[in-house]
Amino acid sequence: MTEPRGHIGVCSDHGKRLFSSRKQARQEIRRSHIGAAMREYRCTSVAGHWHIGQLPPAVMEGRLTARQVYGRWR
Ligand SMILES: [Zn+2]
Repeated sequence: MTEPRGHIGVCSDHGKRLFSSRKQARQEIRRSHIGAAMREYRCTSVAGHWHIGQLPPAVMEGRLTARQVYGRWR
């Protein structure tokens, strides 16, 4: 069951790797996406799990905040 990279599988709805905690998602960004504009965000299908993804250009250019793009999360 233990995955060395911290992800636990792939979300069937989004086709993206699932991380079991925000911390694990952030660690993966640090490890594999150094310097890239990546962020972690909650999976909307698997409760309590996280994906990582690239920030949209509008966010990187400062035209929108990540919250405006992804919506509100708790
Ligand atoms: Zn998902």
